[in-house]
Amino acid sequence: MKKKLNIAILGAGESGVGTALLAKAKGYTVFVSDKGKIKEKYKNVLINNSIDWEEEAHTAAKILSADVVMKSPGIPDSIPLVKVLKMQNVPVISEIEFAAQFTKATIVGITGSNGKTTTAALTHHILKQELNVGLAGNIGDSFAKQILEHDFENYVLEISSFQLDGIVGFKPEIAVLTNITPDHLDRYEYQFEKYIESKFRIALNQTKDDYLIYDADDEVIVNWLKNNTIESQLVPFSLTKKQENGAYLDKDNIVITIDNDKIIMPSNNLTLEGKHNVKNAMAASTVAHLLKIRKQTIRESLENFQGVEHRLEFVLKINKVQYINDSKATNVNATYYALESMETPTVWIVGGTDKGNQYKELFQFINEKVKAIICLGVDNTKLMENFGGMVDIITETQSMSEAVKMAYKLAESGDSVLLSPACASFDLFESYEDRGRQFKDAVRNL
Ligand code: ADP
Repeated sequence: MKKKLNIAILGAGESGVGTALLAKAKGYTVFVSDKGKIKEKYKNVLINNSIDWEEEAHTAAKILSADVVMKSPGIPDSIPLVKVLKMQNVPVISEIEFAAQFTKATIVGITGSNGKTTTAALTHHILKQELNVGLAGNIGDSFAKQILEHDFENYVLEISSFQLDGIVGFKPEIAVLTNITPDHLDRYEYQFEKYIESKFRIALNQTKDDYLIYDADDEVIVNWLKNNTIESQLVPFSLTKKQENGAYLDKDNIVITIDNDKIIMPSNNLTLEGKHNVKNAMAASTVAHLLKIRKQTIRESLENFQGVEHRLEFVLKINKVQYINDSKATNVNATYYALESMETPTVWIVGGTDKGNQYKELFQFINEKVKAIICLGVDNTKLMENFGGMVDIITETQSMSEAVKMAYKLAESGDSVLLSPACASFDLFESYEDRGRQFKDAVRNL
């Protein structure tokens, strides 16, 4: 008889508990261990499924004897337990690596520094019109749980670099790399090179039958591809350069050509605003074209996609001032595209936990469009220093409702109020979602 395999799962969040359920169904002996407190909803799932678990501790003996360890993406490689596991040659893998072995589905894997969720949601929105397709990864129910409960024929996966660090054989048939800008460097020993390598692991196991769709305007990506070889068929997209096999913007039309089969779509019919969203739309439509979705379906889906909460989300118009929630802009690059897309004078709410931000690339837009700045963070010194001389009015506060009231007073008919923080949210809020919700509540209460 085949020996029952042991899996230890570190972290009892969405991916950990999903992996536990799938592993149990596949005959593994499962042990789930979380150094923190496990959320009630996940604890109940573990109890109801008779899965062995612990919280507020990692019992090393039980974990070190496992045949394989699934580590949740939030746990860094640098913790002592993971170091010991690696020293003892116990495979430490991520959820997508574990789960993918149990599905024959076609996988679209989407990674990048910004735009993953938007591109994944948009791709799923197009594909679901004609295909049986699940949306997983950092979005909604875990990939592992969906394999167990639905076993879709196709998956669109939003994949972070932390998930990619834990792959061995995982391979998407179609990979999308939206862009690479410095982010999360604390997890990569502050070496941008290491973060870049991590993102390109999306193509690590691809063969010549697979595709890598990428931003050909992104110098980091293009340089890496010049200096490294991968087997995948390359499908670039660009806002500025014509692509014979790939996607580009020709005046106001998105043109996508795959093996001489062309789709042309007007870019100004997109519901999503901003150049970055034209790129996201190109990437998503290219996936759809590769998967043989009808041209008409792609066009219509782009026109009726409503966007994702907290990403340049239109909230309300009050006294002819529009309020926009871009709370998910947790780095400078995301805010760059938000400010770039503004077409009116803007009162800008910015700030939070600084990640070593360099603000220079924003200066041109601040000069052009920003009439007042409201700094919203525990420590606003750096923002005040950077932007102090650039606008007539710059103020600070530690309260969202206060920030929104200030913005209301400063904005005039025809202006916009934009929350696009360029910083993480943890100094004043639980998460970027909490920050975005508080913004929307404050706007609705004006
Ligand atoms: P991710 O899942 O990679 O964090 P999101 O789709 O959630 O990406 O978007 C995060 C932030 O980045 C939002 O502020 C959004 O407006 C902005 N953004 C979306 N797509 C892009 C892109 N292609 N390039 C730069 N910024 C983007």
